[in-house]
Amino acid sequence: MCCTHSFEDRKPATVPAEKLDLEAVQGMKFFDPHVHMTSRTTDDYQAMADSGIVALIEPAFWLGQPRTGIDSFRDYYSSLIGWERFRSSQFGIKHYCTIGLNSREANNEKLAEEVMELLPLFIYKEGVVGIGEIGFDDQTAAEEKYYRAQLELAKESGLPVQIHTPHRDKKKGTQRSMDIAIEHGLDPYKVIVDHNNEETVKEVLDKGFWAAFTIYPFTKMGNERMVEVAKQYGPERIMINSAADWGISDPLAVPKTAALMKIKGIGDEAIKLITYSNAIKAFAQSGQIDEKDFVNSASVDQSQKFEGNTVLRGGQQPRTNKSSIIIS
Ligand SMILES: [Zn+2]
Repeated sequence: MCCTHSFEDRKPATVPAEKLDLEAVQGMKFFDPHVHMTSRTTDDYQAMADSGIVALIEPAFWLGQPRTGIDSFRDYYSSLIGWERFRSSQFGIKHYCTIGLNSREANNEKLAEEVMELLPLFIYKEGVVGIGEIGFDDQTAAEEKYYRAQLELAKESGLPVQIHTPHRDKKKGTQRSMDIAIEHGLDPYKVIVDHNNEETVKEVLDKGFWAAFTIYPFTKMGNERMVEVAKQYGPERIMINSAADWGISDPLAVPKTAALMKIKGIGDEAIKLITYSNAIKAFAQSGQIDEKDFVNSASVDQSQKFEGNTVLRGGQQPRTNKSSIIIS
């Protein structure tokens, strides 16, 4: 571990959690560029909308257990541009997605080949803002093969790339992901490298890539550390996300971190870049994001239907949850 940049050396004064809530950022708008809403509830959607999240990106990923056939991929991709987008709209949140073969399932080569044939049928659809999330998990040869193949697809389509960096051996995996992207002739400005930490951020920014940070509860990258990263590196080409999914995660990570940044003295303009504008700028290179679509928050009509289905069950009001903004 690089000792000069270790968080432990620079731990900020702790703000008592009970003193903090989202009041500090009331009225601000947020964009969460990485959140797996398929795994979340309507309560989450309501709480996200209430806390100022106006748009999000749902990357295609692993479902927690391996798919056994190509039709599961087809149905999943269809749901990202269909039902899930509709569900999001019912809470006034604009839903985009990235489409790709995740690194874990790249290791099933027979199925991966079929997925590669399927991808071109989805990546050109409306609201698809990138190829993602792709990259390395265990850093196997098969993962590299399909990462490379999907970079070629990104080049061909002109879409941005959303890279998942591995949780094990992160530094090496991040460097390797960037080297390969450059080798394939991708413009780093069209590549968003995700799940950064203090050990990877400098190199990612120096090489001209976008650096995304996932705020994970109960793990290393909590939002107090993120505030320190923002103070050290500034807001340029940095964005944060929740990566909330079926595991323990927090779909309010973006507004909570914005609130903490504000309380810790980071200016509104910088907060806006990190929690809203930078993600839009990076993914709008797809030609699929128009801020007008969500900036004047559309009116919500929950009586709308998607292929005959609504999000309503007996007219219950979704709950809102305003708990502490600290994620540690
Ligand atoms: Zn993810």
